[in-house]
Amino acid sequence: MTAGQDTPPGPDEETVCRVCGYEGELFWEGGWPTEAICPCCGNESDMSDTSVTGIRTYRGYWTGHGARWDSPSRRPKEWNLLDQLSRIPPEWR
Ligand SMILES: [Zn+2]
Repeated sequence: MTAGQDTPPGPDEETVCRVCGYEGELFWEGGWPTEAICPCCGNESDMSDTSVTGIRTYRGYWTGHGARWDSPSRRPKEWNLLDQLSRIPPEWR
């Protein structure tokens, strides 16, 4: 690959949601967003996820509305919001 040409904007692989810290879905692959929808916060991984400001805004909106699961059936019995938020990669906190 030639440097500076079509450099992917993201990581090779990322399985932790940048918004809520949910783990288990492939959100980025080969440097590009997979458009997977997080079952927890409902965020869809796309190009807007490259802005930490945008991520924080969405997270604030989501937690401000009660941090409801997008897919309630996927919610673990012993789910703990703060526990999960602590798994957000440092660069997206
Ligand atoms: Zn999420």
